[in-house]
Amino acid sequence: SRELLERSEKLAAVGQLAAGIAHEIRNPLTALKGFIDLMHRKAKGNNKRYLEIMKGEVGRMELILGELLMLAKPQQVHYSMEDVDLLLQEIVAFMSPQAIIHNVVIETSFREDLPQITCEPNQLKQVFINIVRNGIEAMDGGGTLRVLATRSGDYVRIDFVDEGIGISPEKLQHIGEPFFTTKEQGTGLGMMVSQRIVAEHGGRMSVQSTIGQGTTVTIELPIALHRNMTATDEERI
Ligand code: ADP
Ligand code: MG
Repeated sequence: SRELLERSEKLAAVGQLAAGIAHEIRNPLTALKGFIDLMHRKAKGNNKRYLEIMKGEVGRMELILGELLMLAKPQQVHYSMEDVDLLLQEIVAFMSPQAIIHNVVIETSFREDLPQITCEPNQLKQVFINIVRNGIEAMDGGGTLRVLATRSGDYVRIDFVDEGIGISPEKLQHIGEPFFTTKEQGTGLGMMVSQRIVAEHGGRMSVQSTIGQGTTVTIELPIALHRNMTATDEERI
């Protein structure tokens, strides 16, 4: 509908603006960080303590900027045909040290003949990292995170199923809003960025949760129907 289109255009504009600002702030922040590090090495007593706090806060600013920068269109948009199971396998390996620290076991179950999808693999990997990280962070006492991939109609469907604290219905409404977080060290940007990337891929994302039992995040991405799609074909669609 027209309204939905206007909304998505607005969101895209906000995203571009946020990413632009993040980019401008990153360079001066890097300079600040360098000098703080330098002073910290030489400082003593209270000064050293204050500079440690400054280092921590600058680190947090970098984290937020990093997530905002994900809203920027990648400099080189390079869509390619990818096997989702391979991308997921890569992320599971990448996240396994963090999982181990939190006593979390990650189990995978991928349908064997999964069709390929057309995607920007680096952006999609960022989505998977965000969701896996949330799953791990939701399981304070450890547990199992299941990553399932299957086919559902014209989509590849991925479920991330955790046994974590869950999300109340009131909070569920706010997930994906910029800066909505329940974590002391959270940025509240991971889900918004993920939702945007999935939408840009023509996919959809949903969250189901039961308090005290766990959360399932589901992503559906359209399968690549045109194996030898050329730029002209793409324009025609
Ligand atoms: P952050 O992780 O920095 O808080 P996100 O955008 O990734 O930001 O997530 C927003 C909020 O959504 C989290 O603070 C948390 O309350 C909730 N959330 C997301 N994923 C899960 C999950 N798997 N289990 C429980 N809560 C979740
Ligand atoms: Mg997160």
